[in-house]
Amino acid sequence: MIVVMKPQSTEEMIQHMIHRVEELGLKAHVIVGTERTVIAAIGDKRNGEQEAIEACEDVEQVLPILAPYKIASLETRSEPTVVEVLDFAAGGPNIGMIAGPCSVESEEQIIGTAHQVKAAGATALRGGAFKPRTSPYSFQGMKEEGLKLLAAARDETGLAVVTEVMAPDQVDLVAQYADVLQIGARNMQNYNLLQAVGETRKAVLLKRGPAATMDEFLLAAEYILDQGNSQVMLCERGIRTFEAHTRFTLPLASVPYLHEKTHLPVIIDPSHGTGYANLVTPMAAAAVAAGCDGMIIEVHPDPAHAFSDGPQSLTPEVFAGLTAQCRKVAAAMGRQLH
Ligand code: PEP
Ligand code: MN
Repeated sequence: MIVVMKPQSTEEMIQHMIHRVEELGLKAHVIVGTERTVIAAIGDKRNGEQEAIEACEDVEQVLPILAPYKIASLETRSEPTVVEVLDFAAGGPNIGMIAGPCSVESEEQIIGTAHQVKAAGATALRGGAFKPRTSPYSFQGMKEEGLKLLAAARDETGLAVVTEVMAPDQVDLVAQYADVLQIGARNMQNYNLLQAVGETRKAVLLKRGPAATMDEFLLAAEYILDQGNSQVMLCERGIRTFEAHTRFTLPLASVPYLHEKTHLPVIIDPSHGTGYANLVTPMAAAAVAAGCDGMIIEVHPDPAHAFSDGPQSLTPEVFAGLTAQCRKVAAAMGRQLH
């Protein structure tokens, strides 16, 4: 990091700062300018050294050079991480297609949808069994019964199962049935939950919190990676803004931004990101053009009767149109849908 001293710092203040930098285990390299002195503090430390130095009275500003996250950073691994489960693959040349209903509602609904999304080109099936609902009076999911139906759908179709886990004490149960553990947007900063999924060796789909910055998002991924689980996908699902024409605002610039910072695959969720079925296909195609490594799409056989998120759910037929369009954009980008 670069430590910029306040103007008119005395030699004594500078010596004191050099001592403090060295005390923190870093090497100090002093650059004396005409107006100000700058100290380059060298060494790969990310354990609060910046804050310790910022707290010093004679310091005007501290500029970090290394990202605050380490394992997630491109600084430590330049090859893209490819997350692969059964036929699903995201990262590198692969664009992984996850599709299915917001919630598992019945055997007929989930098995039927699984066959239809598979026929349209999906390689993973989504479906919530534990649902984080804004209202405690809304449908809360079929819980373990829903997990069993998802596993049955995988047995019939070969699709990898992506489903949400909401609490650390549910991780073992959900991991028995799921291939990918989804961390919902509301839980992005539930650090105990992040560590618990990090202890498993299941792939994780980490959704961005609707008010989280990119650094907070990447540091949340770091909690999982730090437990030894390298199979982490970052999912941009839209953030909360003043804008009301969509349910959330879906920032597709997250894709190229994250690709400059991390080797982890970036998945786009245009269903929650827009909230309206008619906006999903154009945003999915745009996400592929922006370089995303996968997408997660809500598909329901009868959106008007869905237990949750009907307005943003595509029918299987419309989803087939989405994959056909995304496949063309992917080919133009030198990628393939998986
Ligand atoms: C979901 O995927 O159905 C869901 C609840 O998503 P999010 O956590 O992004 O709101
Ligand atoms: Mn949903």
